[in-house]
Amino acid sequence: MELNKDIDQFDIPLAKRTYLNNPNSILFKKLFIFSPFLLLIFSVAALRFNRNVELIPLNNLKFQVERNLDTRILGHLPYNETPKEKLVLIEPNIQVHMDMRDSLLKMREEAKKDGIYLVLLSGFRSINLQNDIFYSLKSIRNQEAAERARVSAPPGYSEHSTGFAIDIGDATQRETDFETDFENTDAFRWLIKNAAKFHFKLSFNKDNKYIDYEPWHWRYEGSIEALKVFESSNRKS
Ligand SMILES: [Zn+2]
Repeated sequence: MELNKDIDQFDIPLAKRTYLNNPNSILFKKLFIFSPFLLLIFSVAALRFNRNVELIPLNNLKFQVERNLDTRILGHLPYNETPKEKLVLIEPNIQVHMDMRDSLLKMREEAKKDGIYLVLLSGFRSINLQNDIFYSLKSIRNQEAAERARVSAPPGYSEHSTGFAIDIGDATQRETDFETDFENTDAFRWLIKNAAKFHFKLSFNKDNKYIDYEPWHWRYEGSIEALKVFESSNRKS
């Protein structure tokens, strides 16, 4: 026992002396105690760095894609001209896309049953015709392109070129043809209430920031082809 005690007494101070007095060991001990925290801090920092590295280029890419997809000119989206074989004549001077024909004529018939007489004013327009309308009216009215574009699409940018757009008037109030006043006619009120049943939608409402309100201009979205044509417009509005 005496010997053991001596050994203990000898060993402990020696152990304390060699272990605790060594500056490297103290540092190691501190590092050991704080290592979980350090690990946590490094992990968080690494994660943040990683996320920044990954997210910055992705955000840039998204921004670039959005910019590239925004192909509007003076607020109008581009539309291809529908091939002639997809057009049908529904009035002596009005052609529309074959997908839209039945629905449009049915809508006119149903309106008639309610005592409302819809007049079809303008359907398909070729890009050449739109070119004449846009540039001749622009010069007649002495308007700059941006002003004119508020009421008429530049060639290649008109929904009428798709064959899926139709301008509608009220047979009892022809003075409102192509006028904002058309919104005060019975025909317009009937359309607002019923057009969706026939897959027609008002293209340019009062909220459109680029193009003036056109209560007479409706588009058809009742076929896959029509929905594809207006996909971009529906996504952005
Ligand atoms: Zn129109």
